[in-house]
Order: sequence, then C-alpha cells, then structure tokens
Amino acid sequence: MNKIEKWVRPNIRSLSPYSTARDEAQGSPDIFLDANESPYPGLGYNRYPDPRQKSLKARVSALKGLPVENIFLGNGSDEAIDLMFRIFCTPGKDNAVAIVPSYGMYTVAADINDVQVRGVPLGADFSLPTEALLEAADANTKLLFLCSPNNPSGNAFSREEILELVRRFQGIVVLDEAYADFSAKGSLRGEVLEYPNLVVLQTFSKAYGMAGLRLGMAFADAYVIDLMNRVKYPYNISQAAQKLVLKALDEPRDREIAEIVAQRERLTAQLPELPCVLKVWPSDANFLLVQVTDADALYAHLLQDGIIVRNRSRVTGCAGCLRFTVGTPEENDRLLQSLKRYE
Ligand SMILES: *Cc1c(COP(=O)(O)O)cnc(C)c1O
Repeated sequence: MNKIEKWVRPNIRSLSPYSTARDEAQGSPDIFLDANESPYPGLGYNRYPDPRQKSLKARVSALKGLPVENIFLGNGSDEAIDLMFRIFCTPGKDNAVAIVPSYGMYTVAADINDVQVRGVPLGADFSLPTEALLEAADANTKLLFLCSPNNPSGNAFSREEILELVRRFQGIVVLDEAYADFSAKGSLRGEVLEYPNLVVLQTFSKAYGMAGLRLGMAFADAYVIDLMNRVKYPYNISQAAQKLVLKALDEPRDREIAEIVAQRERLTAQLPELPCVLKVWPSDANFLLVQVTDADALYAHLLQDGIIVRNRSRVTGCAGCLRFTVGTPEENDRLLQSLKRYE
C-alpha cells in the first residue's frame, strides 16, 4: 500500500469507474453509432466531449510545466474541492481541518458530504497557525485546507511554512492557489512531484478571465489524480469549455495581470487616505480586504452608486471589513469617488 492509499475511503479504493462509449472505442471510426447522440450537428455540439480532455490537458501541461498524469481538470476548482471530500472522507466519521477565515466552499462541500470541519483561526495579521493546525487533527482527520493567497484576507503564506505543514501533517494537504498568478510568491505546484500528499488547486476563473466557462485544475501525485479521474462525472468539462479555453490560451494574460497588480497597489496606497477607511490589508491577490467605519452602511452606499462589493463583516476575523475586487482603472476611479462622497 502506498503512503496515500491508507487515507482513501475503502469504497473508492475498489471503485470501478463508469466506462464511456468513447473510452472503449478502438481504431479511427468515422461513423458514431455508439453513444445515442443525435447525428445532426446543430450548433456543433451534438457529440459528447472527450472525457479525458486530451488536447486541453496537453496544453495545460505545457503551460504549467507538469506532466499530464499530474493534472486533473474540473468543472471549476469547486469540483476538485468536492472530490477531495468524496475520495478521502467517510461521511459522518472523518473530518478536515481548515484555516479561518478562508474560502466558504470548503465548509459547504464538507457539510454536503457530512464531514466535520475543524476551523483554526489565523494568527495576528492573518499568519499561518502551524502548531494549532497540527494540533486540531486527530486519527480521523484526512484533509487540511490551506489557501494562499488566502481569500478573503489576501495574503500569501511563505513556501517554507506551507511545506513544513505538508511534511508534518498526516493526511492530504489541499493548497488552494486560485490567486497565485497575482502573487510575487508564486506557486508550489511543482512540489507535487516531491510530496504525494500535496494537492494544489488553481483555476481559470480569476487571472485567466474565464469564470463563465468553469474550468479548474488540480495538480497532484499521479495516484491522487487517477482517483480524481475515476470519481468525477465522465463528461465533467463541456465541449464548449474545452474548445474555448484551448483557444483562449493562445493569448497571453501577462499584461492584464500586471495591470490588475498595479491597480491593486494604487488602491492599497489611496484607500487609507479616505476618512471611511480604517485599514487596508496588504494583498497578494486581485482583491483587498478593507476595514471601514461602518461596513453595512458603506456597502449600501456603494450599491446606491451601482457598485457591488463583498460584505465580509460577519466573517470570523473580518469584523468591519468589506472586500473589494480590483477592477479596471476606470472602475477603481468610480469606487474611490463613491467612497470619497460617503459621509
Ligand atoms: C474563486 C475561488 C475559487 C473558484 O474556483 P472556480 O474554479 O471558479 O470553481 C477557488 N478557490 C478560491 C479561494 C477562490 O476564491
């Protein structure tokens, strides 16, 4: 048994996945009477998509510098989060540890799967509480969720701190890097070749500007990726998403990302000058957590001006805080003007 296998749910270890009509096809047929599809093309999507996303995965492999057997593609990284619970946690028995505050989907996916989440508050200035995270785990803890840069606090943790947890935690460490493209600290995805218990999540929803297409990535040891591929829905990525993302990846996003980072720095400098702003947390992401004089009133004021932000004031550790996504320079101008008008 490999190191990871003992943490996998017994029913998943022995799962025979659904075999699609196209998985079984041999040779190069040109008449497809195997999958009960319509023979009429319509918009051009009458055929089921490639269940293994071969072309897209090869492109992602080149982009991310990892072999295809270390890459899972999902219907958003939310699918990968859900799969972690379904693969590793027996409902009503196993549990997961997660930093607080962080991305809400970890708890939602855990609740759906009847898995307890043990939230461990971040330290001062949202620092990583390494010892407390390890102490929160017991014999039934299978997953540890980290998010870096973290949503909603915006800060990234250091490589060494994260790897220390990967080395010491007895279970799977899920490192959510949805915002890594905005961070000078970079990504730890290359470390999955070194650490079989590390799963790194990324997404095309944020820096790549394709939230509407729903495409997320997980990078991990080939054994974990194989489990994910066996448990996923066979046709989890639509033909439209596979085709459009492949096309979009021909265009580099570096200029847009640099512009967003520059605008983030501009807002970080200018927001504290406003009377309604008490504190702006330093951010490695494309949003800012901002403590204000009256979060609910300011949220309503911005909405009146046609600007919707995220009210995080009821989230643990974020009292009085709003979260502003960095927009275009013009959108950020309007945000600053509206905040200036607030009495
Ligand atoms: C936005 C976000 C995601 C979203 O992922 P999808 O790929 O759109 O499902 C994942 N993790 C975090 C922390 C996010 O903020």
